[in-house]
Amino acid sequence: MKQDFYDILEVDKKASQAEIKKAYRKMALKYHPDKNPGDKQAEEKFKLAAEAYEILGDEQKRAQYDQYGHAAFDGAGMGGKHYTNVEDIFRDFGDIFGGHFSGFGGFGGFGGGNSHSYRVKGSDLRIRVKLSLADTVNGVEKKVKVHRKVKAEGTTYKTCETCHGNGSVVREMNTILGRMQSSTTCPTCGGSGQVIDKKSNDADAQGLKSVEETVSIKIPAGVVDGMQLRVDRKGNDAPGTNSIAGDLLVIIEEIEHETLKREGENLHYDLYISFPEAVLGTSKEIETATGRVRIKLEEGIQSGKILRLKGKGIPVLNGYGSGDLLVHVNVWTPKNLTNEQKEFFRKMVDDNHFTPKPDKNEKSFFEKVKEMFS
Ligand SMILES: [Zn+2]
Repeated sequence: MKQDFYDILEVDKKASQAEIKKAYRKMALKYHPDKNPGDKQAEEKFKLAAEAYEILGDEQKRAQYDQYGHAAFDGAGMGGKHYTNVEDIFRDFGDIFGGHFSGFGGFGGFGGGNSHSYRVKGSDLRIRVKLSLADTVNGVEKKVKVHRKVKAEGTTYKTCETCHGNGSVVREMNTILGRMQSSTTCPTCGGSGQVIDKKSNDADAQGLKSVEETVSIKIPAGVVDGMQLRVDRKGNDAPGTNSIAGDLLVIIEEIEHETLKREGENLHYDLYISFPEAVLGTSKEIETATGRVRIKLEEGIQSGKILRLKGKGIPVLNGYGSGDLLVHVNVWTPKNLTNEQKEFFRKMVDDNHFTPKPDKNEKSFFEKVKEMFS
């Protein structure tokens, strides 16, 4: 079981972005590899904190995490990072340290040497994927065609002359507090430290070209309409040899089932039976998300009765088991009877057997609703 991201950063679930950033900074300073040379445990904590901050520091990813837990980022290459290399952490979050580590050896990070210039990330792409109820219940691997920009072959880059490959430029200003230095992204190269040297004919102004690519997306069981999954590095490339591609954001769209209605992890099914069937009892074949099943209705079943088929609902995304399928029994009162049939019921109006006698086990509609939502 993966540790909770909030626990890792030792922050409250309601913590503000500023508090989360502060907490991460504190953890990163404490477990920084330069402060704990050779300490594998500290390095592990340093990486875990970065993983947690990568999610909680981003409002959108945090919302996904809050709703679905770690499962939101499970599946093949889907969001969530597992840092194996400490330097990657500095590439991704260097700005949070605000140059704090610029003096530490080996992790020059931002504003450091050529090899550590800022890694420009390409833009994210968004696609919608429609899922049937069966896909939602079973989980599915979808192959989608994506038009993404990739580096065009034959395009070469050279070091940016404005920033000399640093990706950032330092400005010096005289302020009332004295001389201040501030570092900003290089306006010429956009932070990559490189500009185009030679460009192939099919490349755009950034040295990129659009290609169609088939991306395989593993969608876990139990996803919800509107949920967004992230496939790392399947968005657009960014120019430069040291850049990384953006991500592919997959927005889940549920196709409504004809007869089964979803409510969280439960499914609802409206079953209509005839008056004689209710009186005599019957068995009915009903549809579930994974096929048809036969259920038995005892004689004298009441309209409004809810039969619960355990585990025939939607799997729990972030856990074990599944919701239930709730079959709502509706007794169809006949209309347009023949005179003969009406005559039969007329005789029964005062018959003791037809008088309603709800017992304590026959829960009222309101009690059932209360129970369903508790
Ligand atoms: Zn530059």
